[in-house]
Amino acid sequence: MAQDNTTENFVLVIHGGAGTILKKNMTPEKEAAYQAKLQEALQAGYKVLGSGGTSLKAVEAAIVVMEDSPLFNAGKGAVYTNNETNEMDASMMDGGTLNAGAVAGAMRIKNPVKGARMVLEQSEHVLLTGEGADEFAKKQGLEIVDPSYFGTQNRLQQLKRLQNKEKTSLDHDEDQGYALPDSSEIEFNVNIDLDKKFGTVGAVALDKHGNLAAATSTGGMTNKRFNRVGDSPIIGAGTYANNSTCAVSSTGHGEYFMRYLVAYDISALMEYKKLSLQEAADEVIHKKLKAVEGKGGVIAVDKEGNVAMPFNTRGMYRGYIKADGTTEIGIYDEE
Ligand code: ASP
Repeated sequence: MAQDNTTENFVLVIHGGAGTILKKNMTPEKEAAYQAKLQEALQAGYKVLGSGGTSLKAVEAAIVVMEDSPLFNAGKGAVYTNNETNEMDASMMDGGTLNAGAVAGAMRIKNPVKGARMVLEQSEHVLLTGEGADEFAKKQGLEIVDPSYFGTQNRLQQLKRLQNKEKTSLDHDEDQGYALPDSSEIEFNVNIDLDKKFGTVGAVALDKHGNLAAATSTGGMTNKRFNRVGDSPIIGAGTYANNSTCAVSSTGHGEYFMRYLVAYDISALMEYKKLSLQEAADEVIHKKLKAVEGKGGVIAVDKEGNVAMPFNTRGMYRGYIKADGTTEIGIYDEE
C-alpha cells in the first residue's frame, strides 16, 4: 500500500558497481573523482527527498548523475557488446504500489532510467526491449541520442582487450588494468570473465511519506553477446521494492542474480522468515551467492530507514545519505 504518514525520516542509498576494486590499484585522482560523483548523486537525490519529493523521483535523480558520468557503466560510458554496440538495461520499482517499469537493450534513450520510469508510469507493461523501448521513450518526450553518444575510447579499448582474450567482462576491474589477487579468472561457457568489475549503478530510497523505491541502470558486461540481457532490468533480480519489506538494487554477475532472484529473495527472507534487512541481505550475498561463486553486492533500505550494503567482491562503489545529512561513501571492502 502506498503510504502518506509524512515524517522527517528519509534515506537514499546508491551504488556504482562492485568488483575487484583495490586501493593499491587506484590513483588518488581517480578515487577522488569517484567520490565526488557519488557525492553529487547523493546530493541530487537528497534534494528531492528533503523537499518532500517521492522516492521514485529521488532514485531517478541520483541515477541520472551517474548515467551522465563516463566513470560508471550506465548511460554515457556504457560498455560495448561483442558487436561494438552499447545496449542499456534499466529498471525501477515503486514499493508502494508494486508497479514496475524497465527497458532492456535500449540504444537511444539518453537516460535509460528515465525510460524505465516512463514504462512504469505511462504504460500498462513492465518491460520494453530494443527499438520498442527507444520508440516508446521518444513518444514520451524523453531525450533521444545517436547510439554513438554512449561509447567512449576507454570502453572501446576495454572491448578490444577482451575480444583478444575472447572473454566477457563485468566492467570496473578491467579498465584499470588490475592485477587480480583473488585469481577468480573463471571462464564460463558464455565467456564471462569474472575478474571484472560490475559497473552498474543503482539507487534505493525511503521518502518522507514512508514509500520505498529502487532503480538500477547498466550497460551490462563488456563483450557480452549483443542482445544479451542481464539482471538489471529484471524485477526481482536486479531491482525490487515493497513497502512492507525493503527496496533493493543489485550489481554483479547478472546470470547469477537472475537465477537466484537476489533482490526479491532478500525481501522474501524479511517477509516470510522475519529476518532483519541486514540479516536477509547478508544471507543472500554472503551465503547463497558466495556458495556458488556468484559475485556482486546489493544496496538496500527498509521501511524504517535501515541501510544494508553487503558485497562479496573486493569493493563496491557505494554511499548513503540520511535526513540529517549524515553521509557515508565507501569503495573498498576494508574501510
Ligand atoms: N549486473 C550487471 C549485468 O550482469 C552487471 C553489473 O552489475 O555491472 O548486466
